[in-house]
Amino acid sequence: MVDRILTLDQLVADQIAAGEVVERPASVVKELLENSLDAGARTVLVQTEQGGVKRILVRDDGSGLHGDDLPLALSRHATSKIRSTDDLGNIASLGFRGEALASMASVARVRICSRPAEAEHGQQIEVHGGREVERGPRAHPPGTTVEVSDLFFNTPARRKFLKTERTEQGHIDQVLRRISLGHFDVAFELRQGASAKPLVLPAGDPERRLERVLGKGFVAQAVRVDESRDGLRLWGWVGLPTHSRSQADQQYFFVNERVVRDKLVAHAIRQAYRDVLFHGRHPVFVLYLELPADAVDVNVHPTKHEVRFRDARAVHDFVFATLNRALRDVRPHPEVSAPATAPGAPTADWSQRGLGLATAPRAAWASVPAAGSLAQAFAEAEPIAVAEARADAQSMPALGYALGQLQGVYVLAQNQQGLVVVDMHAAHERITYEKLKRQCAEDDVPQQRLLVPVAVDVGEREADLCESVADLIAAMGLAVDRAGPGTLMVRAVPALLPGDNAEQLLRDVLSDLVEFGSSDRIRERQEELLATMACHGSLRAHRELTIAEMNALLREMEQTENAGQCNHGRPTYLVQTMADLDRLFQRGQ
Ligand code: ADP
Ligand code: MG
Repeated sequence: MVDRILTLDQLVADQIAAGEVVERPASVVKELLENSLDAGARTVLVQTEQGGVKRILVRDDGSGLHGDDLPLALSRHATSKIRSTDDLGNIASLGFRGEALASMASVARVRICSRPAEAEHGQQIEVHGGREVERGPRAHPPGTTVEVSDLFFNTPARRKFLKTERTEQGHIDQVLRRISLGHFDVAFELRQGASAKPLVLPAGDPERRLERVLGKGFVAQAVRVDESRDGLRLWGWVGLPTHSRSQADQQYFFVNERVVRDKLVAHAIRQAYRDVLFHGRHPVFVLYLELPADAVDVNVHPTKHEVRFRDARAVHDFVFATLNRALRDVRPHPEVSAPATAPGAPTADWSQRGLGLATAPRAAWASVPAAGSLAQAFAEAEPIAVAEARADAQSMPALGYALGQLQGVYVLAQNQQGLVVVDMHAAHERITYEKLKRQCAEDDVPQQRLLVPVAVDVGEREADLCESVADLIAAMGLAVDRAGPGTLMVRAVPALLPGDNAEQLLRDVLSDLVEFGSSDRIRERQEELLATMACHGSLRAHRELTIAEMNALLREMEQTENAGQCNHGRPTYLVQTMADLDRLFQRGQ
């Protein structure tokens, strides 16, 4: 017997749709927060019980809803934010689908109490699983309170997918933190259960909020970015490579105030950090991309986490170029001290400070004594370095003047702030690497002809593409001809990549070009190789340097892009200020 077709009743249809936006308590919190922000709220309070499953309450001081609109707010496709499909191309609000409240109402008990500023009193409506159970006037300050209780009480299958209370609470916390970074002018407060300490985020001071959300020390360990070009603006904070994390858990990207996860943007950011970050480490960033509302389509996915850019290539290039420039500029500046200081580390504890950090991985080297050389170096150093420093404190270079060498591993110097400690191998490695890269960039990429050209079947579309960007391909050091409708012939590859599989290289480059409009793969592989060369060609530990050589190293570091970290993203130097040292010795206490 065949199954007959029936139209689902409205509640079932709503429950299915609810799955798109109401996946878990945190998605309820997200939608309610977005509604409060769309209503122009200045203060938002979130309260949850049992990981939000028992109850979520969001109260705001925004514009409120008209009393007669309450039932409408809870029905599907009812919204005050757009009027017609034309508006979809130009969305300035966070919400626009008119589905969130209806979806919640179908799978929970929802109560909305709201009062516009001009109304005498508030109005309330309560709906249980899509059924209205109460409506009437109620006292309420201007603004709106939405309460969502017993989530999934009528859809047990969905309830089973919820994780532990703690996990769900963690997600809610994350949602609030994320959204708060998009609205520094709004005050947020999150109270989770009775026991947990509330998270209070006052409005106004972005850097204070960043420290609350990302942890103490983030701002000091970040580079400020603000660039505008052709109607695009990118601003925010990018963490120094030395402040990277083992998880990609502190990455916030906003597009016109909307939290967005986007493959293209992620790729551009990864590319910008690639050269300064050790494999497997993840950068920390809080970035805001602003562009005209009609240059980006936000109506791509129900959770509105994805967007589509009208000119994806331009966005990719702009994000990459801006961050790349900002990160290359990380080198010793007079006002920047101690890039290696661990965030949140107690200031007076030597072993936890930058010094300890830099010493730990080198313990093995340091244990090999190089007795004598230190005393000797100091004896040599004193007259030059100290005298120069005293004579010319104002024009003292950022990294100061060398005092001597410690155990053949570190160069010690004094600058205006205090003591500078340089990991000489790491620093030299970075200098050599940047030099090799510059040479490589200046002379074009040297090519090596293949004895036997390699035919690669790529399909007609990619072969066309390859022809249309012939200049780009040639600049990468590849020589490629078309040998048939869908066949390419690789005749030469970059000389620095002799062992590479030409076919795979070409395929990778083309697939990058298809997906991102650019390919960095060859440069990436070359840079890996240069990095290895630099590492081998760099100063080894236990090489004794003269004071003049040490000073030369310091001057080169000041001139070198990315000099704040070695090729693996480890710090190359740190500064202990006089105040740090005084604290250690408890001077003046
Ligand atoms: P959307 O946000 O996509 O419009 P929702 O279902 O989230 O859809 O909300 C429906 C409507 O209810 C909104 O368009 C808005 O007019 C109103 N609304 C919801 N929450 C609030 C609030 N906190 N303050 C004022 N109006 C609200
Ligand atoms: Mg909404």
